[in-house]
Amino acid sequence: MKKIELHLHLDGSVNLTLASTLSKLDLNIVKNKMIAPLKCKNLGDYLTRFDFPISLMQTKENLELIASKLVDDLINDEVIYAEIRFNPLAFTSTLTLDEVITSILRGLSNKKIKTNLILCMMRGYNYDDNLKIINLAKKYLGKGVVAIDLAGDEKKYKLKEYLSLFEYAKSLNIPFTIHAGETDKIDILSAINLGARRIGHGVFSITDDNLIQKLRKKDILLEVCPTSNIQTNAFNTYLDHPIKKLYDLNIKINLSTDNMTVSNTTLEKEYEIVKKYNNLTDLDLLKMNKDSIDYAFLSDLEKEELRKQLDILD
Ligand SMILES: [Zn+2]
Repeated sequence: MKKIELHLHLDGSVNLTLASTLSKLDLNIVKNKMIAPLKCKNLGDYLTRFDFPISLMQTKENLELIASKLVDDLINDEVIYAEIRFNPLAFTSTLTLDEVITSILRGLSNKKIKTNLILCMMRGYNYDDNLKIINLAKKYLGKGVVAIDLAGDEKKYKLKEYLSLFEYAKSLNIPFTIHAGETDKIDILSAINLGARRIGHGVFSITDDNLIQKLRKKDILLEVCPTSNIQTNAFNTYLDHPIKKLYDLNIKINLSTDNMTVSNTTLEKEYEIVKKYNNLTDLDLLKMNKDSIDYAFLSDLEKEELRKQLDILD
């Protein structure tokens, strides 16, 4: 099935074989460093698996190679459009922010599928560092960058600390999505009130009828990544995951991987998982893909082109 991937972290999706080549470490060692177990202690524990791939992402050449290989992996997964996100400041131990963006864009260019970038501000970063990320997004908006995001540990750092940054981004007309409600419902209301059209995860809305109503009323799409949610202990098992309940409550859903390597998954695997454990059908998944196109950070013309590609499979 052709697929739309809207929630994918570049540093969490570094190809294992490429990581082994770049680090000159045995593939099994690389796997141990990068793949999180199916049960982490919590989100913070899961996030430690990003340290090693980020250490490999400090040169122009490596960034280009990693981005290029990721697109090849997405093509193998029958993804026809992907929005790839990362925190650009994580790759600047020697590079400038411009070098980071241009290297990654070089890796994404000349491929069979369309991809765009989302730049992640970080929970825990100070105001000035996150401001740099917004200004970088503004500079490259429409030139490969399509939006900003806020990522990181939501248990430690609440969205309310970052509201003024989002207000600034809104004043610059930069689209945004926000990680919220991944392991706790607290931030979902703040994200809704900010005017987010998409929320990263947002799955804890299932615990609050009021939030469900608000998501529906404001027509907000959730970017849902089941395996990642099981790993961070948001839910105990796949059977406990609320994706089907949310879908049945008419919440718009994009099914994504979050991190292909850290979560040791592909989008095809996630599709198989929700069919097997959550009783979703191919038809449901097709609807999710159509909804995902509606909410992609793309022009109407680009969306129409993607719809045609999906329809070929109908
Ligand atoms: Zn994420």
